[in-house]
Amino acid sequence: MLPPDRLNRFARHIVLPEVGGAGQVALANSHVVLVGCGGIGSPALQYLAAAGIGRLTLVDSDVVEESNLQRQTVFAPADLGRAKAEVAAKWVQRFDPAIEASAVVGRVGADNAAEVPVGADLVLDGCDNFATRLVVSDACVSMGVPLTSAALGRFQGQIANFAGHLSSEACYRCFVGDAFDAEDCDTCAADGVLGAMAGLVGCFAAMQAIRVLLSGHAGFGDPQWGRLQLFDGLAPSLRTLRIAKDPECRGCTSSRT
Ligand SMILES: [Zn+2]
Repeated sequence: MLPPDRLNRFARHIVLPEVGGAGQVALANSHVVLVGCGGIGSPALQYLAAAGIGRLTLVDSDVVEESNLQRQTVFAPADLGRAKAEVAAKWVQRFDPAIEASAVVGRVGADNAAEVPVGADLVLDGCDNFATRLVVSDACVSMGVPLTSAALGRFQGQIANFAGHLSSEACYRCFVGDAFDAEDCDTCAADGVLGAMAGLVGCFAAMQAIRVLLSGHAGFGDPQWGRLQLFDGLAPSLRTLRIAKDPECRGCTSSRT
């Protein structure tokens, strides 16, 4: 049961039959780890916080740069040069002091990815490179933690929920394969990105994460595992692809040790 001030704050959720009081309690009891507080992570964390997710861990190694401000909406000029994760955690604390927000300033790589899903109900990955995405996915599979993965470039967005720890469901590595482990090949700096696309993809990712967190608690809780939502901002249009589990995948098949 939520206290009266929380009932009031989340009244528009609670009145939705698809969320309701039970759903809002489930969100309040959830812990989401956000990898990347940039173009995707910035709007995603705003709407995760607005949804009353009880605990948010915000991970990013970067500092705020002027060119981030075109799309990374939690940052302001006064934040230039400061660690994104810390500024983002302060934003959450100011926005809703009831949320436990913590910052982790550091880069996620093969050496430390196993720590990312610890204690999390869900990991939302909106980072900027494939190598990190793959090791985060592998860590989520091995710990049995669901992953919402979102990517952004130019006018394209991709969002999917993964549960590779389940025998019938694909992981992120089933989707992209092993070819990108060592490369940083999807950087906004090289390709450019429309700022509003970051907002759309970040919010879409937050919504898909909320589906996972509500699973078993409320009607909106359909995790839609392995369904990739492809948003084309130029058209605009949305396509949905089903990602099959790869029996040879070294991230999630039973052959892994
Ligand atoms: Zn896999």
